[in-house]
Amino acid sequence: MRRPLITPTPPSKTTWTRPANDRRAAATFEALGRCKARWGRRLWKNANTVITADNAAELPALAAHVWENFGCDGHYFNVIRGDPKDPGQKAVPAAELRRLHRLIADYEARYAARMFDDRHRLVRWFKRAAYAGTLAFHHRTQAANHPGPGDGWPMPCTAGETILVIDHDGGVRACELRDRIGNLRDHGCDFAAMWADRARTDEVAAIAADRCFCSHVCFIHDSLRHSPRALFAEIPLAWLNGPG
Ligand code: SF4
Repeated sequence: MRRPLITPTPPSKTTWTRPANDRRAAATFEALGRCKARWGRRLWKNANTVITADNAAELPALAAHVWENFGCDGHYFNVIRGDPKDPGQKAVPAAELRRLHRLIADYEARYAARMFDDRHRLVRWFKRAAYAGTLAFHHRTQAANHPGPGDGWPMPCTAGETILVIDHDGGVRACELRDRIGNLRDHGCDFAAMWADRARTDEVAAIAADRCFCSHVCFIHDSLRHSPRALFAEIPLAWLNGPG
């Protein structure tokens, strides 16, 4: 969800809520629920909400509404990034962001309890702790680098090395926030040839030099998976200390 698709509870007087979107979101989640009944754990039903200056104050109510009504496996919150039409939407104060992250941590714990119900108590505890610690680490890293590069990440960004973006027309970028480095069509739609291109390796070096640290959770998550420091020190610490 780029904006809350539903009317928070209690109903808000703000003008950005969209009751029609509320109905569409409910219908979508209901349809996904039917698929999930068929596919079980092979299908995960997640909600994703972008935090903006407009909606930040109402997101705890949104989190409650999604938890109570949509039967999701998880509900994730990511602060707005990039180049929005209204740059004012990025004016979410870091303190407000941290407050919000603390408020939604309770819901994240509820989703974890529902998601990880292994019979073995130790396995169950470990999975829930790893989930909470990873989300707390995401939140801390996002808050530290919003709205622009701030404290940096505790690990290198692996954009262009472990993850790439392919645009609708074949354009290739290391991440959505950086310029294109080429087009798959220039390599006959051969991914291996594009991967071997010098433009990609140059971009990896440029990212390391630019230190363009952002709040993009997909890249934070992919990068942490390749960082022993993040996996074995920062995530356990975030689990102990909370989201911020
Ligand atoms: S830190 Fe952010 S902007 Fe820079 S390359 Fe990684 S994902 Fe892109």
